[in-house]
Amino acid sequence: MHMYSLTEDEEKIRSIHEAGHAIAAWIFGWRIGEMYIADTDISPPADINPALFAWQRLVIELAGPASERLSGSSHSTGIDRARIIGAVSELRDLYGWLQPDNVIIGRAEAEADQLLIEHDGARNAVAAELLRQRRNQCSLGCLTGDEIRDIIARESITIG
Ligand SMILES: [Zn+2]
Repeated sequence: MHMYSLTEDEEKIRSIHEAGHAIAAWIFGWRIGEMYIADTDISPPADINPALFAWQRLVIELAGPASERLSGSSHSTGIDRARIIGAVSELRDLYGWLQPDNVIIGRAEAEADQLLIEHDGARNAVAAELLRQRRNQCSLGCLTGDEIRDIIARESITIG
């Protein structure tokens, strides 16, 4: 297996990035499979309609960079611009949206930010656990979907 070599700083940022994807996916009710320091295996509900799927996919995609930004990361792993533009053009076809790319991306970004801010504790806990796994047990930093759900459920209980 290929060893994924990263500095400590990069590991931390990657875990924050992946936690953003995982939290957004969880909120939308997507299934989370394995989570690694470099990517997270997610899949949508079977009965999701194509337009909702395209929108949620864009928000989940943007939630990675959004998570880094919200954590005050100074150097981002960056946005996959081609993938984002692809998702936007798909959304245009499905919804008939006419707004410029930046307006559509901005709206999806705002939704990603909102979701992450509302689940800040869970996001930080998932990122911390992924990092811990990466350093102690699994070189790729693996968490299972069940473990992620447990962490989120623990952190999402609020008293008020
Ligand atoms: Zn990502």
